[in-house]
Amino acid sequence: MKHWGIAIDGPSGAGKSTLAKRLAQELGFLYVDTGAIYRTVGLAALRRGVDAADGPAVTALLPGLTITVAYGEDGLQHMFLNGEDVTAEIRRNEVSACASKAASISAVRGFLLEMQRRIAQENSVIMDGRDIGTVVLPQADLKIFLTAAPEKRAQRRWKELLERGQRVELDQVLAEVMERDRRDSERETSPLRRAEDAVLADTTGLDLEESFQLLLEIIGSRIGCVKGEG
Ligand code: C5P
Repeated sequence: MKHWGIAIDGPSGAGKSTLAKRLAQELGFLYVDTGAIYRTVGLAALRRGVDAADGPAVTALLPGLTITVAYGEDGLQHMFLNGEDVTAEIRRNEVSACASKAASISAVRGFLLEMQRRIAQENSVIMDGRDIGTVVLPQADLKIFLTAAPEKRAQRRWKELLERGQRVELDQVLAEVMERDRRDSERETSPLRRAEDAVLADTTGLDLEESFQLLLEIIGSRIGCVKGEG
């Protein structure tokens, strides 16, 4: 049976995870949040008191890390770090910067690559991240590059943090979003960039429902109705 692969890449706060999760439900695919996998490495560094930007120190941690992705009955992705469910903890705001720093280290990217490819080999997936269309699944059936203006992305992220009970100033969130964009785009290994064959979707002027409809249209026009074939 063919396993479908849809890659959604883009900067933080573009709405990738919310939209990809809904699309996966609609299509009957597995939603794979690769940012969560990098966040788990970032959390491991944070917990051990290791500077996530320190390549040799983070690389030395890797052999002692068992990172597992598991899907609950609800289809939601849970992250385990050495057997402990860290799904909620990796969403803490401090973990975002650690994840982004650790993600610049090529040994970290190599360590996580096979895990991501294996999930896509075994399932029909909508996988979101930064390098899915360019590196992880270069043969994906469809690649979408989802973006929005930085101010809009910061606003969405700020609201999300408030809903999780984390009080942060909007200005600070905007500065952090722009810093992560810069780090993700300028790093040497697998930088954030649009694959040549990716469809560009800009959600700046769109609300969630409109963005969802836009992506459904793109999927429908590029790979047709694939529901239930995964
Ligand atoms: O998507 P999310 O914001 O949760 O990702 C956290 C960080 O992980 C990003 O800022 C990025 O640096 C890194 N990441 C990555 N490649 C991916 C997914 C995430 O470098 N495929």
